[in-house]
Amino acid sequence: MEEDVYKLIIIGSGPAAYTAAIYAARAELSPLVFEGFYAGPTGGQLMTTTEVENYPGFPKGVTGPELMTAFREQALRFGSTCKQEDIVSVDVSSRPFLVRTRKQEWKTHALILATGATARRLDIPGAGEGEFWQKGVTACAVCDGAAPLFRNKDLYVIGGGDSAVEEALFLTKFGKRVFLVHRRGELRASKIMQERALSHPKLEVIWHHVPVKVEGDHVVRSITLEHVETKQQVTKEAAGLFFAIGHTPNTEFLGGQVALDAHGYICVEPGSSRTNVEGVFAAGDVQDPIYRQAITAAGSGCMAALDAERWLSELRLGA
Ligand code: NAP
Repeated sequence: MEEDVYKLIIIGSGPAAYTAAIYAARAELSPLVFEGFYAGPTGGQLMTTTEVENYPGFPKGVTGPELMTAFREQALRFGSTCKQEDIVSVDVSSRPFLVRTRKQEWKTHALILATGATARRLDIPGAGEGEFWQKGVTACAVCDGAAPLFRNKDLYVIGGGDSAVEEALFLTKFGKRVFLVHRRGELRASKIMQERALSHPKLEVIWHHVPVKVEGDHVVRSITLEHVETKQQVTKEAAGLFFAIGHTPNTEFLGGQVALDAHGYICVEPGSSRTNVEGVFAAGDVQDPIYRQAITAAGSGCMAALDAERWLSELRLGA
């Protein structure tokens, strides 16, 4: 094998990327992991959460940063090389593939894309980092909804898609009442989800409104909503604001060279991590609009490493 060509480069630093790195390193593929720098926190979305209580193996819970530090250490232990640099572009039109940072170009036979997705948020007063972000404002009900600060309180979910409805239904287990705030007069969510939401006794939809302000003391205490047409504002007591206005998969650096679905997620062959480009595999939230959990991302990272290993050995590039 040429000295300067890696067997496998992994792009990303969440559960999918590090799990792929652990498996690939143990298969002696000496993976090079580009963890990103400006692109987002090393460790992915879990770095912005506090307690993770649904990751199996941690009966007492674990913080997102602790969990990701452990993932990373495990990847390093088996011989992965991690670089905190952003990949700005790739060229998968010929082999070996090229991946580029701002300063340098790297060659690889196989590539695992695990760059995740970024939960969209609204940039409104009170909702940002250093304000009430993670103090009542979050973008993941499944991750944060069971926290004591939301118990038996009024909770607001923003959005009208399947995620918003799913999150609102999930929150009915904990909140006193759950309000789904949608900017239009019709939900985008699937019919069955709509029916569940509209018939739930603890859930109410507030149509034609958007949030414009969050206020509180050390945690969220109120939310101000604005009617999209009349612009009339109303302030309501609230303990939680959950953004569910979609995710943006982080695929810009691919420059359209790998097939994406209508929402921008990487398409993989069902039941595998294979993309439409041979030798390019995808794992984690960048290819998953539905489950988006740390555990499913980790599972798909394992799949991608095994798929890459098999592909490399078929071409006799894995030795
Ligand atoms: P989505 O379908 O894109 O819905 C996003 C929602 O947020 C829309 O209702 C949109 O309003 C609203 N929104 C977007 N920008 C906004 C803004 N600036 N201000 C206020 N509201 C805003 O995203 P998603 O719900 O995350 O779903 C993504 C994909 O995953 C979909 O294909 C969905 O079916 C799938 N999914 C499936 C399941 C399931 O099957 N169980 C669960 C979750 C997600 P408008 O409607 O006005 O555009």
